[in-house]
Amino acid sequence: KICQTIVPCGKPLANEPVVFTGLRSGETRYLERYREDHGYRALEGLLKTGDAEAAFEQIRLSGVAGRGGGAFPMYRKLDAVRKNPPPRYLVCNADEGEPGTFKDRYIMERDPHSLIEGMAIAARIIGAEEGFIYLRSEYPHSFHILEKAIAEARSAGLLGPRILGSDFSFRLRLYRGAGAYICGEETSLINSLEGKRAYPRNKPPHLSEVGLWGKPTEEQNVETLANLPAILRNGGDWYARLGDTKSPGTKLFCLSGHIARPGLYEIPLGMSLRSLIEDLGGGIPGGRSLKGLLPAGSASKMLLPRHLDLSLDYPSIAEVGAFLGSASVIVMDDSVCMVDLAYWIAAFSHHESCGQCTPCRDGTEDVYEILLKIVQGEGKPAYLDLLKSIGTYMREASICGLGQSAPNIPLSSMEYFEDEWKAHIENHVCPAGVCSMRRDG
Ligand code: SF4
Repeated sequence: KICQTIVPCGKPLANEPVVFTGLRSGETRYLERYREDHGYRALEGLLKTGDAEAAFEQIRLSGVAGRGGGAFPMYRKLDAVRKNPPPRYLVCNADEGEPGTFKDRYIMERDPHSLIEGMAIAARIIGAEEGFIYLRSEYPHSFHILEKAIAEARSAGLLGPRILGSDFSFRLRLYRGAGAYICGEETSLINSLEGKRAYPRNKPPHLSEVGLWGKPTEEQNVETLANLPAILRNGGDWYARLGDTKSPGTKLFCLSGHIARPGLYEIPLGMSLRSLIEDLGGGIPGGRSLKGLLPAGSASKMLLPRHLDLSLDYPSIAEVGAFLGSASVIVMDDSVCMVDLAYWIAAFSHHESCGQCTPCRDGTEDVYEILLKIVQGEGKPAYLDLLKSIGTYMREASICGLGQSAPNIPLSSMEYFEDEWKAHIENHVCPAGVCSMRRDG
């Protein structure tokens, strides 16, 4: 078979997108084409019957969970928001900033109406009349496509007052961030939307109670919302059966790094990591071998070749102390220096820490400076214990996920590649021949 993935490469392969069918050609970015492909039928059906409870029940049956990384069941968030008094808001988190993640960009640029329709459905269920898409500033092309798609939908009576002649009105606005990774954290995004500094908030209270401008707010990722039209058209059971019992449905995986066929893959949750890497991704190119994987960009601890038979579902990945997050899988071959990797991840976390809380503000700086010394050949044996103790403190005391997860890759690299760390620190040698070239900046 020829590649049927979302971004076709034309090479022999077999993987068929079933939920995000519109992504393959990108033609559905035009309203007319989207409507020809069953677009807006789910919303039409919902508005015709006015039965928001039935739509909610399909979402509950589907088991769809937050695809931005949280994996929290969507129906529980919807239920929490709709039980609180109006006005209620719907916010789409399109601040896709995790290293290696590009799935939401493809949805917004190739199939924006699936997101708009999904938002209108979610808004009808929770009784929101106003919604926002918070888009990362680094996606100017997505901005223009979304802007056009929203205008098209509004002109066709699919957004705005009394949609399709019903009693439901929904105003959707597009908002651009200013380039901060931390705005992908749900509460800092809300602060940013309100015009405040994007500091994460302590929880509770949760956004379902005190969200945008202090009102109940449903915040969901692009992919999660874009699932809704297909779920309502085909039924919650249909969607659930696409995945496995531990994690229902499908998920978009971003595959990058040292892999023969990098790209965006929609796969049923429950497929093995080996199938993703070897069957879909085509394995490691250039006759090299697999050394490690980052399953969730910069956030999760790394995985090793011995983890290849793990099932790609949330609980199975959690069993080995890692997590799937937004499913940006970065593959590394045996040319990679794992100390160098830890250095770059530390540099990223240090740069992106918002600086609100001490464990993360000081911790990311200390970890970065220690790793800089190590990759420059100035490491000391005492640094290993120091890194472990700073990492533990950050995990336990940081306010948000950035500080809590920042030590994951450096500490798992130390755990799995002890010999490499010893070579750098005791012998001042980089076995991969990478770190001797390191310079600050
Ligand atoms: Fe900011 Fe880091 Fe604290 Fe999060 S953990 S609030 S990013 S300083």
